[in-house]
Amino acid sequence: MNMIIDVSNILKEVGASKEFEGGLPLEDMIYQGEKIGFLTPVNVSGSITNVGEFLILNANANVKLQLQCSSCAQPFDRRLEFDLDAKLKKVEDPDDPDIFVYDGNSVDLRDIVLEYLLLALPIRKQCCQECKGLCPYCGCNLNEEQCNCELSLDFEEEYEVDSRLEALKNVLTVNGEEV
Ligand SMILES: [Zn+2]
Ligand SMILES: [Zn+2]
Repeated sequence: MNMIIDVSNILKEVGASKEFEGGLPLEDMIYQGEKIGFLTPVNVSGSITNVGEFLILNANANVKLQLQCSSCAQPFDRRLEFDLDAKLKKVEDPDDPDIFVYDGNSVDLRDIVLEYLLLALPIRKQCCQECKGLCPYCGCNLNEEQCNCELSLDFEEEYEVDSRLEALKNVLTVNGEEV
């Protein structure tokens, strides 16, 4: 399903504007290696105005997403709200890369909404502020369980140093010398 706005009426008159409101369902996707799930359609409301040279889209959108925590890899829900502020033209403008191209008498909002949504995603996706992440040694989720990796690792390091000293002592004894 798409969200297509008929702009035939506002194209006839500079200054004309059309308001719209609706829900745009989007499919779950993988973006930059991380899963983005859509728990609701993207609710978009705003207007498209004919300013002569191009159309201007002004809208506000909100959606409930399921993201993946960068620290513990668990899914978590996050509500995202963002603004759309775009220029629309029938032909591409090499001087203005911020122009979205539309075709005929209607504007398909899907690609525009998606682009603004991806820009609005939090850079650091974290399930909660105090997320402890995964244990780098055994991979367990430290928010849910406490492993003994840190402890046993400290022990092993001490143990290694001791055994090396021991080996050194043995060598010295064999040569019959004491330090
Ligand atoms: Zn987390
Ligand atoms: Zn561990």
